[in-house]
Amino acid sequence: MRRSSRRRRTVSAYREGDRTVVLIPARMSEAEEQRWVSVMLDKLAAQESKRVLGDTELSERAQRLSAQYFDGRARPASVRWVTNQNTRWGSCTPSEGSIRLSHRLQGMPEYVVDYVLLHELAHLLVPGHGPRFWRLLESYPRTERAKGYLEGVVAADRLPHLPGVRGE
Ligand SMILES: [Zn+2]
Repeated sequence: MRRSSRRRRTVSAYREGDRTVVLIPARMSEAEEQRWVSVMLDKLAAQESKRVLGDTELSERAQRLSAQYFDGRARPASVRWVTNQNTRWGSCTPSEGSIRLSHRLQGMPEYVVDYVLLHELAHLLVPGHGPRFWRLLESYPRTERAKGYLEGVVAADRLPHLPGVRGE
């Protein structure tokens, strides 16, 4: 915690290595200070949980999902985010073992990202969307829910921009 005499009102916090620095105005009371420290720690934690996975974390996630749902049989050579994919949530090139996820998924619930990852992982094992393909995804309990979520996003995109409805 750092008290700053220049700082009059605002409180801020950031991570510095494995320490957290909370900047507070010098005049603040002990009680206010304690309250703010916990508020700022919660705020930082919330920001960090919303943080986007990096490509390395995305690969690790894919590995874990493959192990959990496909006995580790799907082994992608690369998993990464792409920004040039706006009509598909994910894609996969089985011959290269590469999986690409649209950056539009960033910020969506984890179970949705996991579903798209699993979907693409399943394509490493079964091409197309036949019964064998969907059987693979049956073991993931949130398949239907994730599909519904994504359909909802697509439907919302097609709506006219009504003021107050989409907040635009
Ligand atoms: Zn597919």
